[in-house]
Amino acid sequence: MDTSVIRMDKQKLQVPDFPSIVYIEGDGVGREITPVALAVIDAAVKHAYGTTRAIGWKECLAGEKAFSSQGAYLPQDTLDAIDESLVAIKGPLTTPVGKGFRSLNVTLRQKLDLYACVRPVRYFTGVPSPVRHPELVDMVVFRENTEDIYAGIEWPQGSSEAALLRDFLEQSLNVTNIRFPESSAFGIKPVSVEGSKRLVRSAIHYALEQSRTSVTLVHKGNIMKFTEGGFLAWGYEVAKDEFGAIRNEKGHYLIERTGQKPLIVKDCICDAFLQNILIKSSDYDVVATTNLNGDYVSDALAAEVGGIGIAPGANINYLTGKAIFEATHGTAPDIAGNNSANPLSMILSGEMLLRYLGWNEAAAILIRAIELVLQDSLVTADFYRLIKQEGNDATLLGTKEFGDYLISRM
Ligand code: NAD
Repeated sequence: MDTSVIRMDKQKLQVPDFPSIVYIEGDGVGREITPVALAVIDAAVKHAYGTTRAIGWKECLAGEKAFSSQGAYLPQDTLDAIDESLVAIKGPLTTPVGKGFRSLNVTLRQKLDLYACVRPVRYFTGVPSPVRHPELVDMVVFRENTEDIYAGIEWPQGSSEAALLRDFLEQSLNVTNIRFPESSAFGIKPVSVEGSKRLVRSAIHYALEQSRTSVTLVHKGNIMKFTEGGFLAWGYEVAKDEFGAIRNEKGHYLIERTGQKPLIVKDCICDAFLQNILIKSSDYDVVATTNLNGDYVSDALAAEVGGIGIAPGANINYLTGKAIFEATHGTAPDIAGNNSANPLSMILSGEMLLRYLGWNEAAAILIRAIELVLQDSLVTADFYRLIKQEGNDATLLGTKEFGDYLISRM
């Protein structure tokens, strides 16, 4: 048996001291930020565990690097390697235009059934922000990743499929409220019991394990009663039936836990939520939501604490253990090759990876070093520009130099 393989056993991840983990460098700025992130992660592990633990990185190809050497954007070998190693980290990938792919990222998520898109959003002192109290933002968004209008089931205006669907809706289902039936494109929004429940279950488990205060189900069930409303109803069912939640006088559900205040499970309509995260962001902690809502919510929250240069993410299947950690931004072709990209989104994705492995000491060292460096206003070009615009002082570092400095502060 290969002793470097991470395994799932009884729904728990079994991590050896020297695990083999896949990395995909990525295109564009991925070539700059990924090597920096790996070096920073390695340094944090070394500081935490000396020589008793280390990650064995295994490079796999995807995107332009894969296409130029193997003629495929997403080689089967890469999918097989992630299947085997369970855990991977990847840089951003260019979506090939007009080559039959919707997106390599979406393909990876679908093929590996990575149903939860997890995005922690917190503020680091020193980071320029457009809001007055970014320090009140400390949330973890669980976005359903496989369903909803995002599943890509849609047909263009004028197509025979759109006409067929329109006729079926009007003639067989007596739909009368398609405003312009002849000229409409159509999309379908599947939201299932299993898909909703596994996402909410994972969010509640996470909240309990990490001692968070609440889980908010964000939905648009007031308008889309069966899809978004279903997500909400099934979410509360999970809280009640599987975690023993009891309803209080405010209509919230409480999950009792020893030695701590109960975990609150509540809900919020998505439009109100987008307003509330600006005016009372400390009301929210873990958030569980459907795919499209999650897309908007994640980016709005990321903007509050410094934008996509510092926004980490992971796509996870908590049942199989498969997880890909990744920067949430794209390949940034406008700045690629300049050694100016901010590597923090990738480094913070590495921090998430370390916590996923249960290597919390290394993750804490990494976070502490980031706090120190940002407090001192040593930053890459994206933050430098904004700090200067606000009339404050900062020191400009290149991508690689930022990583080196971070390591020196561990
Ligand atoms: P982008 O995220 O690459 O860039 C948007 C803006 O943010 C640009 O001005 C860019 O310079 C800036 N930016 C992004 N990352 C940064 C960083 N680390 N540091 C500083 N600034 C940063 O979005 P785009 O330009 O719309 O997309 C470019 C390509 O990336 C497309 O091919 C798209 O399909 C792909 N993409 C990939 C992913 C992914 O792999 N997860 C996500 C989004 C887009």
